[in-house]
Amino acid sequence: MWRIFDIPGSGLCMRCAGRIYGRLGTGIDNPTRGAIIKFIFGLLWKDEIQFQDEESCILCHGIFNKLAVYRDMILDLSGGYEFRTFLVGSRFDQETMQAEEERLNENYSESIKKEFNRELGKLLSASTGKEFEKNDPDIAFHVDTRYDSLKIQVKSLFVYGVYRKYRRDIPQTRWIYRGPEKSDSLEEIIGKKISELTGCTNYFLHGAGREDVDVRMLGNGREFIIEAWEPRKRSIDLEELKARVNSSEMGIEIENLRFTTKKQVQELKASDYYKTYEATVQSPRLIDAEKLKGAARELTGKVIYQRTPLRVSGRRSDITRHREVRDALVMDVEGSTARIQITAQAGTYIKELVSGDGGRTDPSLTKLYGSDLTVSELDVVKIHRSEVNG
Ligand SMILES: [Zn+2]
Repeated sequence: MWRIFDIPGSGLCMRCAGRIYGRLGTGIDNPTRGAIIKFIFGLLWKDEIQFQDEESCILCHGIFNKLAVYRDMILDLSGGYEFRTFLVGSRFDQETMQAEEERLNENYSESIKKEFNRELGKLLSASTGKEFEKNDPDIAFHVDTRYDSLKIQVKSLFVYGVYRKYRRDIPQTRWIYRGPEKSDSLEEIIGKKISELTGCTNYFLHGAGREDVDVRMLGNGREFIIEAWEPRKRSIDLEELKARVNSSEMGIEIENLRFTTKKQVQELKASDYYKTYEATVQSPRLIDAEKLKGAARELTGKVIYQRTPLRVSGRRSDITRHREVRDALVMDVEGSTARIQITAQAGTYIKELVSGDGGRTDPSLTKLYGSDLTVSELDVVKIHRSEVNG
């Protein structure tokens, strides 16, 4: 407490002297605290404290007189962004931080950064009507007082929805499919539309799992979150987004859109629902319908062993997993073609469940039927979202 004796001639302004006791007493600002110190000092010791003026203060160098300049910089640079909440952060030179460390007490002092951020925040609130928000602001302003520079960090906008995919040539994201006739990915089809509405600089699609590029996603659809990166507009009309995507005739459809948070992305990615598939299965010979139905019955309720399929083994680590086939049903047989419906645990490779993948999946429909079967077309027809499964 008796650090106060250091204050006369210590090179501090009234505000910085007050900030040394910045966490004592509420409802007053630091210059007022400084004035109180001066008053008490004069009263008790009949001695006049000589504070520096702010410009020559060794701590703040008068930076608090420049708050309006920083505010205007922020207003200039953030003009194109819609935001409801914001945060201010700042950086000071090492000399100031060191000088402060020598004088501040960790129990009752306030740092210059904290005061700067708060005071600039108040000023911004007053001129914009926006709210200062510490935890998850729409936009963050980082002032570097060393160079009087400003960086803006804009929170992504997250929109949840479900998609259906009616074509067999649309990959889910941009980076997977490298075929010669590259068609737009789901990520691009939805991303371009959300770019039009938000003015974002980039976009990312996060899916609740994915289907192969040649697999259609039908039925109740797959959950996704589209992330708009550095959006200029946040309060977009989701009905408009849905209409733009669905009328683009790109073979996809989205619905149930709502705004969501980054936290939901992890939860979405961790979801592992059972799925029902319909597959067109081919045999090199005529299919024996009764025998195939028997094989499907045998597969029903089985836990199968599945090694990572050969076709993806270059991209994924070779592991063996157990997956439950809840249901397998022959819907139709015609010549050497059959239609089957399979409900299986998340992560089951259905094409390999049918073919056996040279014994890497066991048992398989091929093994139980006793002759080679392959999937020529595959659709996801239902994702069992309402059920809890392990
Ligand atoms: Zn000062």
